[in-house]
Amino acid sequence: MLIAPALLADIVAHARREYDAECCGMIAYGGDGDAASLNGAARALRVHRATNIFASRKRFEIDGRELLRTIDEFEQEGWELGAIYHSHTHTDPYPSQTDINFAANWPGLEWVIVGLAGEQPEVRCYMIEDGVVRAVPLEVR
Ligand SMILES: [Zn+2]
Repeated sequence: MLIAPALLADIVAHARREYDAECCGMIAYGGDGDAASLNGAARALRVHRATNIFASRKRFEIDGRELLRTIDEFEQEGWELGAIYHSHTHTDPYPSQTDINFAANWPGLEWVIVGLAGEQPEVRCYMIEDGVVRAVPLEVR
């Protein structure tokens, strides 16, 4: 994922705001063939702050209606849902088993995790396919 510094800062700000519950949200990418896409990496164009229906420090879930409405809004702009982000407030920014299970419902998405356990926020991006976690580049520019 390619992301502008201001957009990444917005995600981190959301994670801090919800602390010590997990935040969650959705990231729109430019569609296929979009000029925003470079070297195969899609550019993040919009961040939607979602409500964590669990308001929990251990797990997150985005309300199904909010998910569908937001996907619709993205598509009306010619974008697509590219990534789902959430925060880990007390553990490393690495997908938990719960995250891996959840990702099975959303093939093809990237998973952004904001780690707030350390002194500085740490943001990581992954693909999770068939239960296998693979770190992918998160390029800020
Ligand atoms: Zn998680």
